[in-house]
This record gives sequence, C-alpha cells and structure tokens, in this order.
Amino acid sequence: MEHRGIPQEQADSGDFASLGLSQPILDALTRLNFTHPTPIQAAVIPLALAGRDVIGLAQTGSGKTAAFGLPLAERHQHGEGVRGLILSPTREIAMQTKDFLDLFGRDRHLATVLLIGGVRIGPQFDALKRRPDLVVATPGRLLDHIERRTVRLQGLEDLVLDEADHMLDLGFLPQIRRVLRALPDKRRTMMFSATMPPQVQGLVSQFMTDPVRIDLLPEGRAAEGIDHRLYLVEERDKKACLISLLARDEGSTLVFLRRKIDAEWACRQLQLEGHPVERIHSDRSQSQRTKALAGFRQGEHRVLVATDVAARGIDIPRIEHIINFNPPETVEDYIHRSGRTARGTLEGRVSTIATWRDKAMIKSMESALGKRIERHETEGVEPYREVKTARRARIRRRLL
Ligand code: AMP
Repeated sequence: MEHRGIPQEQADSGDFASLGLSQPILDALTRLNFTHPTPIQAAVIPLALAGRDVIGLAQTGSGKTAAFGLPLAERHQHGEGVRGLILSPTREIAMQTKDFLDLFGRDRHLATVLLIGGVRIGPQFDALKRRPDLVVATPGRLLDHIERRTVRLQGLEDLVLDEADHMLDLGFLPQIRRVLRALPDKRRTMMFSATMPPQVQGLVSQFMTDPVRIDLLPEGRAAEGIDHRLYLVEERDKKACLISLLARDEGSTLVFLRRKIDAEWACRQLQLEGHPVERIHSDRSQSQRTKALAGFRQGEHRVLVATDVAARGIDIPRIEHIINFNPPETVEDYIHRSGRTARGTLEGRVSTIATWRDKAMIKSMESALGKRIERHETEGVEPYREVKTARRARIRRRLL
C-alpha cells in the first residue's frame, strides 16, 4: 500500500480548479461558498479522478463528503444505470451525503436515491424505477433491496465506504461483506475512517486494489479551532452546571449524554427551565429524529440533546457549543462529539462536565488531544478542587 502525507501549505493554498475539476462542478462549489479545498479534499480528489483506490484517514468534519462526492459527480453521466454507491453508517449521514450529491450533480442532472432503514420501503421502489445514477444507503436496507432484486448494481463503477470504523462499531460487518460480494470486482473503492482497527484493515485487504492511504489523522486529534474546557464539579452539581453553561452562552448548543433515559431526563429539565430544546436518540422514530434535527438546524430550538449513537456524523454548520454532561465512554467518542463543532473552518467550544470519578477518562482525553484540558468554573456552581495525591494524603493526616 502506498502512503502519502500532504504538505499542509499545498493543501491550504491550492484551489479547486487545480485539482482537475470541471467548470460546472467549480460553479457548484462557488455557490456553496467553498473557496479552498480542505486537506483531505486536496489529497483525495486528484487520486480519485485518476481512478485510484483511496483510504482516507481523516478527522470528523474534515470535508470528506466533498472529497468523495466531487469525483463521483465529475465522473458520471445521467441515465447509464447505477454507477456509484455510498455506504453510510447512519440514516442522518446518508441524508447529508445525498444532499451534497444533489448539489454537486445538479448541472449533470445526476439522480441520487436514498435507501435507508426506518422509513417505508415502497417509495424507495418507486425511486429506484426512475433510473438513479447514484445510491446512498445504510447497509441493512441496501441488502434488503439487493435480496429483493429491486436495485441493480451490476454496472457499478464507484464504491465509497464512509465512516468504515463507525459502521463496524454498529455491527454492520456481516452486511457490508454481503453487499461487497454482490458488487462487480472491477470497480474503484474509496474508504474513509477515523481509525484503522483490524476489521477495517481486513476489508481493505479483501476488497480494495492497491489503495493509496492518505493519513491526516496521525495522532487521532479532534479538529483544530476547538476550545476544550473542563468543569469539575460534585455529582449533585452537574445539573446546575449544565443550566449555568446554557444560561451563559446564547449560541446553538448540542448536549451529549450517554444513555437514552438520561437524554429524555435532560430534555425535560431544560424544557422546565424554559430552554427551546429537542432530543435525538435511537429510541425515537426516524421522523422524530429528522424533525428534531431540522428544527435545530433552522434555529427553532437552539439546544439539542443527544446520545452518541444518534449523533455521530451529524453535520450541522455553526454549532457553537458542545456540552458533555459527562465524559463519553471512549476517547473516540470524545473526538466524534467534539467534531460536531468547528465544522469546516469555523471555531467552537467543547465543555465537559465531570466529577472526580471521571479522572481516568479525562487523562485519556488529554493524551489524545496532546494537551491538558483547561479547568473552568461557572457561575453559581462550586468547583471541585483537584488536589495532588500527596497533598491530599497530608490533608487527610491532618484531619485525623
Ligand atoms: P464533512 O466532513 O464532509 O461532514 O464536512 C464538514 C463541514 O465542512 C460541512 O459543513 C461542509 O459544508 C464544510 N466544508 C467541506 N468542505 C469545505 C470547503 N472546502 N470549504 C468550506 N467548508 C467546507
């Protein structure tokens, strides 16, 4: 496998025209206000246009949708059968990807069909009959269509596995393998992932041909431009801390909790405090999730409460503040949660509320970020004072 890094200055100073994209696509980018390619776009687009298999290791929010979407839109014409397939881990990510493809492919009249679970299958049959050029799908529903022979993928030329590590975390490996076996061998494959666990490596060796690996995530760090803050409090003060943080900042805010039941509780508490708030987690129906996201996106409610599963991959521009009601269970989740702010080139803040019990996780988060997370205090909440172990032992001796 070939490994390539990208000189930062080249990635930042280039423009889209120099990557080999045609005028209609460049016009679409201008309409979107994308003036310069992000590093992953600068690296992936020329390789994809040249027909290479690519593995993109990139942080969340790095612009990977356009990195694969632009070459797809560039390469295909309308009306030749399904030529491109994008597999996405969640319905929300799939919907966002389709929206991008609709924009990029507008001048060429490229039609993209969305095949996701949790919604009625009938309209998908109808959409498939209208001869789409590209398919964006979650693995389970796509397999359903393959088995019913309602989607024809024999002419497929381009496959994208988006957020491969996330798809495997959700237990999609068997479905992905079955889908991949149903596709023509002669095709180009792009894979994007934030990490390369052995199972993802296994997919690479079995299903990709001489891929070029673009590694923009050497140290697993979250997006630049994020102000990480830690609020250490007593367990009983966590709710007061959340309410105080929400009262202080006015911008659009995403609040993460680990469990669905806690997300429901937090949403209710914030409603009682008079905040315009909605929630999103896996026990809510697809239409409720879509409605909550749309309302948040349009600013109808400035606060969205979410669990990790439902919220990974959500792309909402201008989320100013992420509040972790507690640190997530894994460092990867912290990076993913943080990636919901500072999208593209914007700046954002991540505030984590924690108690002394979370010490080990905080250490792991700090080592992933490569720096200490600044301790902060908020009005009306007594901070928990960290005491060095030796000093604490002295204090205890004195008290005894
Ligand atoms: P993605 O990683 O594809 O989910 O993209 C993250 C965010 O960055 C999205 O909100 C995009 O609209 C934005 N974005 C992607 N590429 C660019 C670009 N070249 N210039 C400005 N914003 C971008």
